Amino acid sequence: MIEQAANNTTDEVVAELKRRSAFVMVSHVKPDGDTLGAGLALGLALKRVGKRVHYFQQDPVPRNLRFLPETEFVARELPADLPADALWVFGDMSSTSRAGEYLPALERANILDIDHHLGNDHFGAFNYVIPTECSTGTVVMHLLRGLDVAVDRDIATLILTTIMTDTGGFMHSNTTPEVLDLSAELMRVGADKEQITEEIFANKRPAALALLAKALDTMRFEHDGRYCYSAVTEAMLAQTGADGEDTEEIVNHLRSMDGVEVSALFKAFDDEIRVSLRSRGRVNVQAAAARLGGGGHFRASGLTFHGTLDEAFAGVDAALVAEGL
Ligand code: AMP
Ligand code: MN
Ligand code: MN
Repeated sequence: MIEQAANNTTDEVVAELKRRSAFVMVSHVKPDGDTLGAGLALGLALKRVGKRVHYFQQDPVPRNLRFLPETEFVARELPADLPADALWVFGDMSSTSRAGEYLPALERANILDIDHHLGNDHFGAFNYVIPTECSTGTVVMHLLRGLDVAVDRDIATLILTTIMTDTGGFMHSNTTPEVLDLSAELMRVGADKEQITEEIFANKRPAALALLAKALDTMRFEHDGRYCYSAVTEAMLAQTGADGEDTEEIVNHLRSMDGVEVSALFKAFDDEIRVSLRSRGRVNVQAAAARLGGGGHFRASGLTFHGTLDEAFAGVDAALVAEGL
């Protein structure tokens, strides 16, 4: 267990960003629009003030995020001449393990942790974690203001993408008046909300809907209909021609039915079982996921289960019941 370090102030983090000359922005495995958009936005801003910036991400950029500026520079490899005192900036993850197995060993002194998850480990020498923010991108906004970098069209597009990803297109309860104010400001400087909506939410392949149909066809209900879950298996992917990226929205559909308080999608492929959990707001699915080694937010969390699919069904059910389902 890493010793908990305190959060730094905006001024302290901005001073550190100014002091360093090279940066590696790190996003989490199976990247989403928040981890990627937040890292690219801060990276772009640092480039604008003359810094050297690289982007490290274990997995490829998902198809629906390739429209974002800077994604052509995202890679798993890093240059051999990377300065030893480069600052590694982790965005949108509770622990460094979420960056994957290709991450080199790092000294804590060179780590900045920027996040909005409950239960973030404060694993950096510098920590800037604000759980009340809707996205890591809106956490980054505070730093951009401190750095005094003008928010141009590209940076605005990246930040609005983080917001639209983590608010589910302004549908989730984290969509506060402040979030809508900031989004309006970002649109005024050129972020194209229509384009972001189309690229992120309306860009599905037919295979994704074929997979959704299979998952809906095999969904099950428990606890008087308050819990709905389904699974995606290797066989279902093979039958539909879909891949992991095509599973994104399924868990939200399972939770969209009247009376369902919690939904779960069990993704049993690639030699592991990853579970996505969603809550309507009464049951804390972050706490349920944490019981099984995962994490996330009150209403959206995830975990990797070690065992068989049937054991995963039973284990997640028990964790949800323990959290009041
Ligand atoms: P997902 O269901 O993959 O969209 O993830 C929902 C939320 O849970 C996100 O905030 C993730 O960062 C978090 N999460 C997903 N998987 C894990 C995991 N294995 N460990 C910790 N947090 C996770
Ligand atoms: Mn994320
Ligand atoms: Mn996020």
